[in-house]
Amino acid sequence: MEIEAAVVDAPGEPFRLVRLRMDAPGPDQVLVRIHACGVCHTDMVMREGALPVPFPCIFGHEGAGVVTAVGPDVTTVEPGDHVLLSFHSCGTCPACADHQPGYCGEFFPRNFLGGTEPGQGAIWRDGDRIAGNIFGQSAFATHAFAHADNVVRIDRDLPLAILAPLGCGVQTGAGTVLETLRVGPGQSIAILGAGAVGLSAVMAAVIAGAGRIVLLDRHHHRLDLGRELGATETVDDMAKLDGPFDYVMDTTGVPALLPHAMEKLGLRGTLALVGAYPPGQTMPVDPSSVMGTGRRIVGVVEGGIDPRQFIPRLVDYYRAGKLPLEKLIRTYPFAAIEEAFHASETGAVIKPVLIMRDD
Ligand SMILES: [Zn+2]
Ligand SMILES: [Zn+2]
Repeated sequence: MEIEAAVVDAPGEPFRLVRLRMDAPGPDQVLVRIHACGVCHTDMVMREGALPVPFPCIFGHEGAGVVTAVGPDVTTVEPGDHVLLSFHSCGTCPACADHQPGYCGEFFPRNFLGGTEPGQGAIWRDGDRIAGNIFGQSAFATHAFAHADNVVRIDRDLPLAILAPLGCGVQTGAGTVLETLRVGPGQSIAILGAGAVGLSAVMAAVIAGAGRIVLLDRHHHRLDLGRELGATETVDDMAKLDGPFDYVMDTTGVPALLPHAMEKLGLRGTLALVGAYPPGQTMPVDPSSVMGTGRRIVGVVEGGIDPRQFIPRLVDYYRAGKLPLEKLIRTYPFAAIEEAFHASETGAVIKPVLIMRDD
């Protein structure tokens, strides 16, 4: 069949909306008609070529849509199901067996190398296979191949455009607070960075019943939104961050902030590293201060959750009014993808969501 997709031909090049040919789904594949897809910071990193993704490539990894066909090995969803897409994992390694697929031994190839496996359906341009399975989806397109492990069925009355970002940005922020750190009632947390991940963390900290919820960012309109979502204090400079905290969560990916973040931790405090740090950087840590205070440092991928268990929980919070995602989102027609990326890069929009189909 023919589909339309936003293709990037080489690192740093613009998106081009082109018509491509798509095979029928292979044994393990779920063919999803994409209605909406969020724009995530990682899409920008991949488009610039800062991660070793293959080009030409179709990005997009917060897809939401309707299943139109499934391969014979897929038993968990069927045509007509409304689904949110998340990241891809192997399903069998020790981490996957422990419901921690973010630490799957095959996380990197299955999410960043972009291709479908031999014997599975592929996407073609003029007889050449295109890298059309980033994060097991490549959802900047009218249709995408997903897999049994990365589709989560939701009720048909729910808004796909608003819930699309649950599959990466929102679960990363909320999962870090609720599952990895398990912030408890009355505890204190400082959240560095008020993007989609940081603001999702704020909403989750409110759900957790946290006491002090302090949000740091240099964009004041983001801090205003953070207070509206439940941050108890906001600051625009690290020097103004007044600890100690039970938890500090860094979503900025700026290594230079981390030594200061460590100093803001209280006794037995935990620093969560959630940002997209450039590889090869180091952070100075005084081992004696870590030892003497019982502090911990933990890395977090995608919140440290299993999307098939955690996304339904987030949907319940959304229904209960505890996750007002519509406040983070601005929608754009698919054809305005460059404009949506620009709005995200400048910080003007927290979470752009592209609309491929609005019925
Ligand atoms: Zn695995
Ligand atoms: Zn993402």
